[in-house]
Amino acid sequence: MDLDLVFLGTAGAAPTARRATPALLLRRGGERLLFDCGEGTQRQLLRSAIGLPELEEVFLTHYHADHYLGLPGMMKTFALRGREVPLTIHGPPGLSELFSSLRRIFGRLTYPYELVEVRPGESLKRDGYRLTAVDVDHGVQAIGWALAEDERPGRFDLEAAERLGVPAGPLFGALQRGETVTTPAGATVAPAEVLGPARPGRKIVLTGDTRAARTVLEAANEAEVLVHDGSFGEEERERADETGHATAGDAAELARVAAVKLLALTHLSNRYFGPEIAREARAVFPETVVPRDFDIIDVPFAERGAPVLVKGGALGHEEAGLGGHGAGGGGEGPHGGGGDPDDPPDGGDPVGAAPGRPAAPGGAR
Ligand SMILES: [Zn+2]
Ligand SMILES: [Zn+2]
Repeated sequence: MDLDLVFLGTAGAAPTARRATPALLLRRGGERLLFDCGEGTQRQLLRSAIGLPELEEVFLTHYHADHYLGLPGMMKTFALRGREVPLTIHGPPGLSELFSSLRRIFGRLTYPYELVEVRPGESLKRDGYRLTAVDVDHGVQAIGWALAEDERPGRFDLEAAERLGVPAGPLFGALQRGETVTTPAGATVAPAEVLGPARPGRKIVLTGDTRAARTVLEAANEAEVLVHDGSFGEEERERADETGHATAGDAAELARVAAVKLLALTHLSNRYFGPEIAREARAVFPETVVPRDFDIIDVPFAERGAPVLVKGGALGHEEAGLGGHGAGGGGEGPHGGGGDPDDPPDGGDPVGAAPGRPAAPGGAR
């Protein structure tokens, strides 16, 4: 089953010309789960090859404005389309209170919506996976989200099945589902005789805004992908601490100890372009990427290889043709870009903050 992460907004606090505020679309099979919905998320989707799907579920990490301002506008657009499909919004406690204000913005809707408040440690059981709210350390009520797939049955041994007299067809399926079967010759065959050991599912952890936290370390143990707050570089350690964010180095150290396969840093402060953040992190944990908007991380099952950053993988044809980002370039690893140390900085990226110049002052976002 396909699983990937589409980065729709990779800036922290405020957008830049090239990076929108936080939003990430997780696609698993036919499911589309949106995590955070920064200002302009609906337009990011429209600009992408994905378009604006009839999202049924949105997951918020916390209620700083850069993480939810896109939601009322998107909900309004759904209503303008005459949508009838229900929408469910999940988030930490405080969600109902937030909506007592947002409701005034989007007004009457054509579809029902449900608000579900989730506390750290609580899980939502889904078909084939579990979504757990992870406690984080951001100074306000905030959660990360961990998606962990169920174990998969072991590999089916065709030769063993043949040897035991099981004909190809429905009996194969029954064995794979864990049922004992009887062959046409009358022999009994148990699943364990033809199936290898159970294989682990995939695990993705999205932290939202946080300092490096033990709870995240535990949740991210051996995850395929850890998408972590990488707001600041080492020279802004103090600011990171004060505002409840992580430095690239701290996130990388956590990823190293958790033995994740790939670390993706996001929520970049406006003064960074990406390459500096990637350089710092890779000194500690080489398997780090710093995705840009419209990059995708493909997450195959372990036996099919490591997660891979696909630069510009979600760009619509028009956008790709404009040369703003550079097209495609599928299948490049951590050293292929998306904030590679050798990438030239994108001129004119940060608004009001050239590299080396302090960014606009502001509180935690
Ligand atoms: Zn934020
Ligand atoms: Zn925040």
